[in-house]
Amino acid sequence: MEYISTRNKNLQLGFKEIFLQGLAPDGGLFISKNIKKYSNNELNKMAKLNYIDLAKEIVSNFCEKDLHGKELEDIIKKSYSNFSVKNVVNIKKIGKFSLVELFHGPTLAFKDIAMQPIGNIYDEFNKSNNKKINVIVATSGDTGSAAISALNGKANLNVFVLHPDKKISNIQRRLMTTVESKNVFNIALKGNFDDCQKIVKDMFIDQEFRKKINMSGVNSINWARIIFQIVYYFFVGLKFLNKPINFSVPTGNFGDVYSGYVSKKMGLPIKKLIVATNENDILSRVINSGQYKPTKTKPSISPSMDIQVASNFERLLYDVVGQDDNKVKLLMDKLKNEGGYSLNKEELNKIKSDFCSSTVSDELTKQTLKNVYEQYQLLIDPHTATAFKAAELNSSDEEMLILSTAHPCKFSETVHQATGIEPKIPENIKNILNKKESYITLDNNLGAIKNYILERTKEI
Ligand SMILES: *Cc1c(COP(=O)(O)O)cnc(C)c1O
Repeated sequence: MEYISTRNKNLQLGFKEIFLQGLAPDGGLFISKNIKKYSNNELNKMAKLNYIDLAKEIVSNFCEKDLHGKELEDIIKKSYSNFSVKNVVNIKKIGKFSLVELFHGPTLAFKDIAMQPIGNIYDEFNKSNNKKINVIVATSGDTGSAAISALNGKANLNVFVLHPDKKISNIQRRLMTTVESKNVFNIALKGNFDDCQKIVKDMFIDQEFRKKINMSGVNSINWARIIFQIVYYFFVGLKFLNKPINFSVPTGNFGDVYSGYVSKKMGLPIKKLIVATNENDILSRVINSGQYKPTKTKPSISPSMDIQVASNFERLLYDVVGQDDNKVKLLMDKLKNEGGYSLNKEELNKIKSDFCSSTVSDELTKQTLKNVYEQYQLLIDPHTATAFKAAELNSSDEEMLILSTAHPCKFSETVHQATGIEPKIPENIKNILNKKESYITLDNNLGAIKNYILERTKEI
């Protein structure tokens, strides 16, 4: 399996290289050149596999030269051994919909499902490596804690996490800042998530800095995130074989729903992927009108989706413009220099054949939290609520699977306000409420952040 950059098809790299590099040197995103398509016969066989065996089958398509056999199996087994349900994810019927709970990992958000194996893959690749790796992460709230949980205490590796100061929930922050580990550094950036993500991208593009600190990244720009997310689409989708299915996905950086798109390319019979956004609705706008034009990010009650520059959209764009790397580069330059780009009718129709999208306001999200509680006695989190509402708005005869991306206790203030009920915090994470926090607040300034990181990586 060879990998290319969305902005340069001639760049051909292997899995290990793209895993460690995260973002391509030209600023593009890595994608695999070929995608395996499963036959119906193969799908029927895969439907019988447990989660671990299915993960091994799917993931091995993308990394067979660098990770395979028992090595890969051990990584997968170890990664999911601390999940609180047997097959990693749980399906609950609510009314005519199926809710796919993806939050049974150590930090109670779907990001654990990809991040735990990524932590163990670093260990594997680091065995033959004597240079310390510095992982730099931007987080809108959940990626950071998932990364810290996966990487704290790992040998020969540091993790630096930038979160937007005062724009994430108390539990989200505490899950990151109470981890006492010498290789973990938390930075509260005076800005929003897009600022955090821009700083990380700028550091990736700065070849000198990147080499100096042996930089790596685990944001959803890292292809490994996409791969491990494909597994749950298959695991739950295969339970409904022979019926077309739709997925409703709470979306921010377009990573999760892009994994659904790759699943469809791999043969999973998905009809439509419903992109649910909050009022930071750039994705709804581009899917409905073809205009990709970021506006100012505004804080919402689903903060992990407060994003206006949805990085992974570039991966879809590559397909939409007929896998023309020059056209992608042109459009991305336009975005940078003119603040946006528009797609033509043919390109927009391509998007519409796989996706539809709805924007769900904070008001509607709260109403949905309340309705779901009153109708089904079930507490869901605000991100999941946007997908629930979008599922209702786009409902059809097909089976509808709603991805539930976080445990409601991570957003207990909002859930309490909307339903009058305080979600219970699971016993195993209760202790973070009393632990001492450790983080530094820094200005939204690339130079200042670089200096902070350089000072802490000096010994290498
Ligand atoms: C990260 C996150 C999302 C958005 O996922 P993307 O891959 O960025 O689209 C949705 N819900 C929750 C709870 C998240 O943490």
